[in-house]
Amino acid sequence: MKVLILGGIKEAYQLAIKLVNEGHDVTSSLAGRTKEPKPVEGKTRIGGFGGVEGLVKYIKENEVELLIDCTHPFAKQISVNAIKASKITGVKLKINSREPWQKQSGDQWIEVKNLDEARDYIPKNARILLALGSQYIDLFKTRKDVFFLVRMIDKPETQISLHDHQLLIGKPSNDLQQEQAILEANKITHIVCRNSGGTGAYAKIEAARKLKLPIIMVSR
Ligand code: NAP
Repeated sequence: MKVLILGGIKEAYQLAIKLVNEGHDVTSSLAGRTKEPKPVEGKTRIGGFGGVEGLVKYIKENEVELLIDCTHPFAKQISVNAIKASKITGVKLKINSREPWQKQSGDQWIEVKNLDEARDYIPKNARILLALGSQYIDLFKTRKDVFFLVRMIDKPETQISLHDHQLLIGKPSNDLQQEQAILEANKITHIVCRNSGGTGAYAKIEAARKLKLPIIMVSR
């Protein structure tokens, strides 16, 4: 089958390998947010489609037979577009969504509805590991009383708008010890993150549990 995977996360890479091995003609679509994305099995296309209309056009022109939404659970717009494009074209849509992390014994989560609430919850003079996409950093600039350790995959092209901060460039480690070492070395008091689910970014949750650190967690 001609399959279009809307990807950008680890599970989408794994899915592409599986479907290519099964003999499907697979194209993975990436938004183009990371500078040097990991090569994906099969074909790759990069960049937005141009809304629902663009996605519909792409599906028709490329005779896509199956559309798979395997995007990040907090990437909302592309998922809405996928549903609409599937309805318009009649092409079957499969949604592969990650389950959220479940709170475990020892976890100290402060669950909030959105990033504004997360920002307002941060106690005065806290030291925060901000584990979010770079597009969300600006929201925290009013918290001049707080130190932020900002983790991002690529070095930012423009200056970060936060008052007191340090950058931590690279993907999160999936090693508990490494994540613990980062939290301890930077005297982190809280983590701010979203309940993304999956295994790739879970080590920080385990490290926080071990160190008894609270996590300000944006729920799904
Ligand atoms: P979004 O808000 O849902 O999408 C915004 C726009 O970006 C979409 O309307 C679409 O542009 C384009 N786009 C998004 N995903 C695309 C894809 N896979 N292929 C082609 N175009 C795409 O998405 P986002 O939150 O910015 O996330 C962008 C990508 O990063 C997604 O692929 C997602 O899986 C990945 N990602 C996101 C997060 C996160 O925290 N949001 C974390 C890790 C990975 P057009 O309307 O022009 O088509």
